[in-house]
Amino acid sequence: MTKTFAINAGSSSLKFQLFEMPAETVIAKGLVERIGIGDSIFKIEYGDDQEFKTVEDITDHGRAVEILFEKLKEFKIIEDLEEITGVGHRVVAGGEFFKDSTVVTEDVIKKVEELAEFAPLHNPAEALVMREFQKRLPNAHMVAVFDTSFHTTMPAVNYLYSLPYEYYEKFGARRYGAHGTSHRYVSRRAAEIVGKPIEELKIITCHLGNGGSITAVDGGKSIDTSMGFTPLAGITMGTRTGDIDASLIPFLMDKLNITDVNEMINIFNKQSGLLGISGVSSDMRDVEIAAYEGNERAQLALEIFENRVQKYIGQYIAAMNGVDVIVFTAGIGENSKEERENILKGITWFGIELDPDRNDTRKEAIISADNSKVTVINIPTNEEVEIARDVERLK
Ligand code: ADP
Repeated sequence: MTKTFAINAGSSSLKFQLFEMPAETVIAKGLVERIGIGDSIFKIEYGDDQEFKTVEDITDHGRAVEILFEKLKEFKIIEDLEEITGVGHRVVAGGEFFKDSTVVTEDVIKKVEELAEFAPLHNPAEALVMREFQKRLPNAHMVAVFDTSFHTTMPAVNYLYSLPYEYYEKFGARRYGAHGTSHRYVSRRAAEIVGKPIEELKIITCHLGNGGSITAVDGGKSIDTSMGFTPLAGITMGTRTGDIDASLIPFLMDKLNITDVNEMINIFNKQSGLLGISGVSSDMRDVEIAAYEGNERAQLALEIFENRVQKYIGQYIAAMNGVDVIVFTAGIGENSKEERENILKGITWFGIELDPDRNDTRKEAIISADNSKVTVINIPTNEEVEIARDVERLK
């Protein structure tokens, strides 16, 4: 047995899971939040329900990694660093360059840094964390797993915007998508559950979390996805607009007296979506409660969210000329039977029929009725295990 880390570094956070491989047993997991912001939180769970949490200033990702290793030893989760033989790093933007996960080399780290123009808050932090792990675990096998690589199979007809073509050629202005590791994991799992080769299936995966995206997976390949050049596009999300008309940018900047376009984009990313419409919260649970208590804007936020998901499902049924399986995953997809029901009851024309008893679950399960033309499956996503598997696969 060897130990493998799955690392997910964000601009001010670091999430980790340590697996015993190939058994895929989680031996420790946790996160560091508010890195460089002050009052940083370090949290780790290990052993039989043991937990440790501390609040202190963690100034940068280097220090976050240092504390992680200190605690691994202190709590005797590992005796010797040599036990950790693999590390998988999630990277947000792999551009067109990284079509699959890849073994980390100096060139790979440099390329991740170069691609920062597509994910300015994430890629630099991820490159830095790779270097920190290299320093501490020089003998470990390290792999980078890109959010975008699953979507590099999209045809030009779906990844190109209707812009002057040279903007794509010169600047890489195109759809890249995101959440690829999750869409890959759940689509493959769906094929296993229905017991058919993925090559023969048309699957629509709905990753509905705080961020959300829908993907059309035809024969195992992503052929279209709702997020775009950045994660701002697609369905209504916790705080993101999803698709909007670009002409709103100058119009609103003028009305709001905003001169810096980044400020406007920040509003689209952080103050819109469920939060912006409802005025209550970005968190689906809060919005559901407010709607239930009669808050009309919360009700409207739910309807808009459901409507956008329905429209993407319809679009992808058209794009694939059919669908065999629809998958729900991530925080909302896995946990909210109401949202699943509300989304699907608007699109029964396609022969989709939910079984209300089966739908009353948060676990992996087929939730459609036996006579449903389309199989609907609830699948808790597991991006971390997919990352750890990639470390094994690329040995
Ligand atoms: P992230 O994109 O941050 O990884 P998650 O996948 O954890 O997000 O999803 C977070 C979302 O899932 C939040 O909107 C949260 O309210 C929602 N969620 C979690 N549990 C439930 C639940 N029981 N019912 C409805 N929504 C839920």
